[in-house]
Order: sequence, then structure tokens, then C-alpha cells
Amino acid sequence: MSTDLKFWREKERLKDEIVDCLTAIITTRGCAWNRCYMCSYARESRQVSEKELIEQIDAVFKNKAKVYKIFTSGSFFDDSELPKFVREYVARKFKEVGAEKLIVESRPEFIEEDKLSIFEDINLEVGIGLESADDFIREKCVNKGFKFEDFLIASKKLKSFGFRVKAYLLLKPPFLSEKEAVEDALNSIKKIESIADVVSLNLTNVQKNTLVEKLWYAGLYRPPWLWSAIEVLRKSDLDIICDPVAAGKSRGPHNCYSCDLEVAKAIRNFSLTQDKSYLEVYCECKRKWEVAIELENYSRVPIFF
Ligand code: SF4
Ligand SMILES: [Zn+2]
Repeated sequence: MSTDLKFWREKERLKDEIVDCLTAIITTRGCAWNRCYMCSYARESRQVSEKELIEQIDAVFKNKAKVYKIFTSGSFFDDSELPKFVREYVARKFKEVGAEKLIVESRPEFIEEDKLSIFEDINLEVGIGLESADDFIREKCVNKGFKFEDFLIASKKLKSFGFRVKAYLLLKPPFLSEKEAVEDALNSIKKIESIADVVSLNLTNVQKNTLVEKLWYAGLYRPPWLWSAIEVLRKSDLDIICDPVAAGKSRGPHNCYSCDLEVAKAIRNFSLTQDKSYLEVYCECKRKWEVAIELENYSRVPIFF
């Protein structure tokens, strides 16, 4: 059995109920793109045999849950990561355990009708790492390698099967000021509100061996303030979730380091309930964030010029 399969239990909202969810990261050969500036997922990938893939799926479904998140460090619908028969096996095991919702992730170019049809009678949600609805920012600041149009085409295919679309947005890709980052997230939300069923706001953290890490070491990148996340969550009207990974660490989203755990907890509580009253948190450092938002743009030439 593979020893590097990771899985853990967490809570997930399902039709206004908070239920048990099993999240698994299946080890595969990894993302076919592998060029995004903030991503180090390739470090978690390696060549795995088909037998090992099946063993990992078996190990995951031995643990009962209502919701399963089956992630790879890449794309669930990429045949070179998970061959068709492995995806079929996932669908079969999911039905066998009587689970209610399956969540997977994929780049848009791998989302094709014949791959989706296997999941026809399953409540499927597919996460797509759109990062920003702005093609310029997605290309220059993330190096994502696909266009907004590609996201729209993939979403349309998912909708035609009645599947849910989850859009991942990246709060504060490199080269954006704090203010530009907040504006980009809010503009992106507006642009996808009629397409995405749910938005997952991902706060950039500094991963090893990435361009973001080089900039951070050079003092040219600061992960987003948690206040920026609060601002985006407060101002958006759609279903939006956020799990501030590495909150309160210098490599992760942070405020003044004193209030980070409390603010991250407020964000997680909001994600589970969508109750905006959780976002009413305060610390004196909020004033510093306001000043940073106000003044940072004066210290640099905006990238849009
Ligand atoms: S962020 Fe997603 S698409 Fe980009 S390199 Fe990482 S796994 Fe691949
Ligand atoms: Zn603080």
C-alpha cells in the first residue's frame, strides 16, 4: 500500500447542514501544467502504478463519510494522472458507501463530456483553479496557462450534466498590491456570480521552491492580510468559502500575529455557516492594514500602466 496517501476528516456544508467530510489527496504523477508561480504540488507527486492508485481509492472509501473530496495534486480528469478505469472505480466505490456528495478538482482543458458521463447519477462538484477572472492577472501574475473563456466552456459542460461548479480564486497573486488584490477578488466574484455555485477564496501562502518564495525571500512579497480576506468575504453576496491555510505564520496570510488565530477562526466559522456576523472581529492592527491599503499603491507603478 502507498504510504504517502493523505486523508483527514473535516466539516462541510451540505444543503444547510454541517456534515462529516473526508478529504483525500491521492498521490499521482502530478499536474501536467506544473508552472503556476505559487504552487509546489509537484513536490507531492511521483510515478505511481495503476495498482497503487486503486489501493489508495480503497483506503479512502474504507472510511465512511457523507461528503468525499478526492483531490490529486493536479487534475482528477487528466487521464495521465487518473486513467478512466480509476475514475470509474471512484464512482463505483462512492455509490457503494452511499455517500451524498463528491468533490473533485480539475484544470478546464481536461473537463470533457465523455469523462463526466461516468458521474451522471452522482452529486458532483468540480473545483476549477480560475484564480482570477482577469486574463491579464491570471497570465502575468499566476502563469495559469488558460483563459477565462476556457473556464466558461468547462463550466457550461459541467452545468449541462447538472454538476456544481466551484471556482477557486487566489487572493493576492504576486505583483499585486494589497488593494489591487482585494479589488481583483471582488471583480472576479462579480464576473462569475452567475456561473459558479460556490467560490473558494484561497489566500496565497508561500510554498517551497516557487517564484512566490523567491520574491518573499527578497522582501518583494507579503502574503495577504487576513483583513483583506474579511473585506472580500464581507462584500460578496454569493456562497463563498475560505480556509486560511498557514494563517498566522510568516509564510501564510497574517495580520499582526496576535489576532491571526482569532481572525482565521472567524473566517472558518463564516465559511461553514455563511453567517456574516462572524466577520465582525477587530484588532488594533486593522488600522495598519487600512494604511497599507491606502498608501501601498503610491510606492509603485500599478502594473496596469
Ligand atoms: S496550481 Fe493547479 S494548475 Fe497550477 S501548477 Fe498547481 S496543480 Fe497545476
Ligand atoms: Zn492584529
